[in-house]
Amino acid sequence: MSEAKPVESGLLLYNTLTRRKDPFEPMKPPFVGLYVCGPTVYGDAHLGHARPYITFDLLFRYLTHLGYKVRYVRNITDVGHLENDADEGEDKIAKKARLEQLEPMEVAHYYTERYHYNMQQLNTLQPSIEPRATGHIIEQILMIEEIIKNGFAYEVNGSVYFDVLAYNAQKPYGILSGRIIEDLLSNTRDLDGQDDKRNPLDFALWKKAQPIHIMRWPSPWGEGFPGWHIECSAMSSKYLGETFDIHGGGMDLLFPHHECEIAQSNACNHKDPVKLWMHNNMITINGKKMGKSLGNFITLNEFFTGGHKILEQAYSPMTIRFFILQAHYRSTLDFSNDALRSAEKAYKKVINGLRSLKTLTAAEGDLKIDAELTERISASCEQAFAGMNDDLNSAVSLAALFDLLKVINSLKGGQIADNSISRETFEKLRYTYTLFVEELFGLIEEKGRTVELLDNLMETILESYRDAKERKDYSAVDSIRAHVKRQGILIKDSKTGISWDYEE
Ligand code: ZN
Repeated sequence: MSEAKPVESGLLLYNTLTRRKDPFEPMKPPFVGLYVCGPTVYGDAHLGHARPYITFDLLFRYLTHLGYKVRYVRNITDVGHLENDADEGEDKIAKKARLEQLEPMEVAHYYTERYHYNMQQLNTLQPSIEPRATGHIIEQILMIEEIIKNGFAYEVNGSVYFDVLAYNAQKPYGILSGRIIEDLLSNTRDLDGQDDKRNPLDFALWKKAQPIHIMRWPSPWGEGFPGWHIECSAMSSKYLGETFDIHGGGMDLLFPHHECEIAQSNACNHKDPVKLWMHNNMITINGKKMGKSLGNFITLNEFFTGGHKILEQAYSPMTIRFFILQAHYRSTLDFSNDALRSAEKAYKKVINGLRSLKTLTAAEGDLKIDAELTERISASCEQAFAGMNDDLNSAVSLAALFDLLKVINSLKGGQIADNSISRETFEKLRYTYTLFVEELFGLIEEKGRTVELLDNLMETILESYRDAKERKDYSAVDSIRAHVKRQGILIKDSKTGISWDYEE
């Protein structure tokens, strides 16, 4: 297949596949394979995790909408990811297990469940397959054996390393990140003799397990565990084929993780594994990179509860989702309380628009068509799709939705007469706005907030009820009781005061 595209190319290939004259025309259903690097499950998901999973959720939703049959594979890394993303040091999960005196699988299971719950809160769709690295040890061993057989890896003392120089002699290493092997070599320190590697650029495919290492499997090279990079090559080729369409992940994975995936797959299958790479840019916090040592490492649960010193309030899952979608995935996104507060406001505007739209209908009877307005609605609908077709530019699509929202609000407020647009134009407006907000952007009315809202509204109603009773206005008292009863709610008068219950 084609060579791996440099990262700058973004979604150009995909554009040529999907750009159509009429975005409302359905497409033929070809198959798309999408692989996204998932989390290493040794801690709670944070804001940096939310961005790739929301970005590729949008891609998954949009490709599915276009009529593609998408197989979306997003893995769980539950072994082999060592500290500092390096080839030495403790396994992140094993370390947590040691510190908390748990089985490594207890750690992996616990954080996988919490991650799934966070993903559900963010309303991301489940991937088609969610393979775990520990469930694919055999596939990884087979792939390593093939790479050794092809002359691109060597065994030393029970560990196996990928031979970057041997590979580079056949095919350039660094093709994705645009790195040149000579520069990489001059920037690495010399081997200190402690290392088994022939060259500092070589990376581990299999590591011999030291006696204290608890996560270990038998292999042709003795007991050990797989390197971090090989799992994605083994699992993506198993489920999507030796060459598949789109591989996504955060920009931080571009080098070395994805570079290593390309080298491993070529060394094993003599093929580039991926037609198109997509990398989302990073999130910064008040202009600084996120990191545990900087004290600005905020988990999603902390956002949802407001439980971190940097946060001035709690931010709901939909606010976080909106915040991420309002920027193009390839641009940097800076977090601040102000930025999140305006995302929260804008999200509410969008949802109010959806609620208004559900109360509006196309005009019946005499029409006085406003040609300019008709043209504006059509242009905004097309712009919403054009944004998505242009490298998944959700910021452009969102701007178009806000223009449609102005029309919706004017229709609702009566500033625009409903008979100034045809039924066809009204349906186009309704279809586009609803499709984008609910199905593609996955923005939903938050249930948690609705429950809170019910409590507050009932408090207000009970106050009016109390006032009416004090005024001895019994017709108002009866009327309030009857109104809330229709919603399945009973107002209760007792010696201790006035309260409400669900009707049983
Ligand atoms: Zn990966």
